[in-house]
Amino acid sequence: MNKSCDIVRDLIPLYLDNVCSQESRRFVEEHVEHCESCKKELSENRIEFDSMTFKSDKEEVETMKKIAHKWKKDKSISFMKGIFFTSLLATVACPILYNIIGSKVLEDGMLVEPFALIPLAYLFLLITIISGIILAIKSRIRSNQ
Ligand SMILES: [Zn+2]
Repeated sequence: MNKSCDIVRDLIPLYLDNVCSQESRRFVEEHVEHCESCKKELSENRIEFDSMTFKSDKEEVETMKKIAHKWKKDKSISFMKGIFFTSLLATVACPILYNIIGSKVLEDGMLVEPFALIPLAYLFLLITIISGIILAIKSRIRSNQ
């Protein structure tokens, strides 16, 4: 093994990582054209390098998938929490509004009452109960994982 072989072997990792200068690249390429042992060394290193890169890429994709999955779950739980608290607030607000607005009799004898608020309160109560149940189930599923 001569001196340039030593240099080439030192340069191989940098060459594969694409971080050496153009001149060094050319030097490695020209050298392996006529040096079988360095050519072999380069191809062996390349296989190792490729498998390492491939593995870390796969691991990265897996990690990203896990994070995306967790985010998606957190998002759906946050969404259910939003529905739960909004409808809970509306359930409480409707009867209060009903009492504040009250009822009045118009001059022509027509009774005006904010009746719609009563069924709305029940509707929001139903939504609160359903979203509360879904939220409890989702939270339990998540804590079991
Ligand atoms: Zn060589």
